[in-house]
Amino acid sequence: MKIPLSRPDITEKEIEAVLAVIKTPYLSLGPKHREFEESVAEYIGVKYAVSVSSGTAGLHLVIKALDIKEGDEVVTTPFSFISSSNVMLFERARPVFVDIDPGTLNIDTQNIEELFASRYDFDGEVLKNRRTRAQVKAVLPVHVFGQPCDMDRIWQIAKKYNLKVIEDACEAIGAEYKGKKVGTFGDASVFAFYANKQITTAEGGMIVSNDEKMAKLCKSMRNQGRDEGSAWLVHQRLGYNYRLDEMSAALGIAQMGRIEEILQARERVANIYNERLEDSKNIEVPYISSQTKMSWFVYVIRVGRKINRDKVMEHLQKRGIECRSYFPSIHLQPFYREMFGFKEGDFPITEKVSKSAIALPFYNNLLEKQIDYVCENLKEILEAMK
Ligand SMILES: *Cc1c(COP(=O)(O)O)cnc(C)c1O
Repeated sequence: MKIPLSRPDITEKEIEAVLAVIKTPYLSLGPKHREFEESVAEYIGVKYAVSVSSGTAGLHLVIKALDIKEGDEVVTTPFSFISSSNVMLFERARPVFVDIDPGTLNIDTQNIEELFASRYDFDGEVLKNRRTRAQVKAVLPVHVFGQPCDMDRIWQIAKKYNLKVIEDACEAIGAEYKGKKVGTFGDASVFAFYANKQITTAEGGMIVSNDEKMAKLCKSMRNQGRDEGSAWLVHQRLGYNYRLDEMSAALGIAQMGRIEEILQARERVANIYNERLEDSKNIEVPYISSQTKMSWFVYVIRVGRKINRDKVMEHLQKRGIECRSYFPSIHLQPFYREMFGFKEGDFPITEKVSKSAIALPFYNNLLEKQIDYVCENLKEILEAMK
């Protein structure tokens, strides 16, 4: 048996929707990206949605729109996909990492408080790094693997220190924190639609916000700095080509039409995995909280301290089971070490999780017998390694 890590779930509806657009003259900046924006805004419950060419592009525009620039700091997590902190580097701002909670794997708000109290000065308006005098402008929490962050505490901290909140919800569409959907908590929030996300446009992303100015700025910057309604070759500000094309938007609309079905299918797969694995020795299954509703992005287990994770992965691959080490610590990536001098031991919980995590095959249409195959092999491998 060969089981891939991830597979998009594309039905006839999606195929027809994309084909219909290719037959029209409107391949970009047509009606579809607006319709897609409306469907996401309505689903999340926000006033504005701005489609973009990727989640990374969306996060970059939010950083720009909040005027985060050279020398500024943004507090975030080192346990994430790399683009959540790369977007600061695009603007020569600095990601300031704090370690994660070992249960949720999200940024630990206690660590944020301790960092500010011990190494920052707050004058009632501006929070400054005591040593470098750099200003902290924002907090960028990531809902890792679709598990919502502790948004109450993050908001308390943001209010107390006058900071903006940028939600990286790229892995979490449909997730809820205390009954409210993620994407409603940030000054701006971003979703991503790469092929392995819960819903896909192949490549694509969406900025959502209740702030009209934010939405207008992002719309302008994604379209070469043009203001809405201005002439094609008049550019009000520095912009990019971060537009989402109409075929991708049509794919997104069709996927949004099935979102409940898709999220349920993923939950079903996660539940079967949980059932099969939760009592196994040397396996820690994903954390589930009563305060939140997860949107399952991936299924990541952790193996016990004495188990050689890389060897387990090797054996799984040999048996046709594709898997991946989600996520390596961002601060230990080669160019982060070089730029900032990070080293092993800087963020011990993140590093420990990075060394023990394995993402198992996970997608909507994964069959029960395939899940059984994965779990039986995994248990066998672990048993043999003891
Ligand atoms: C997928 C993802 C992004 C953005 O991804 P793109 O590939 O640029 O769409 C950003 N942050 C996190 C945490 C992600 O998982």
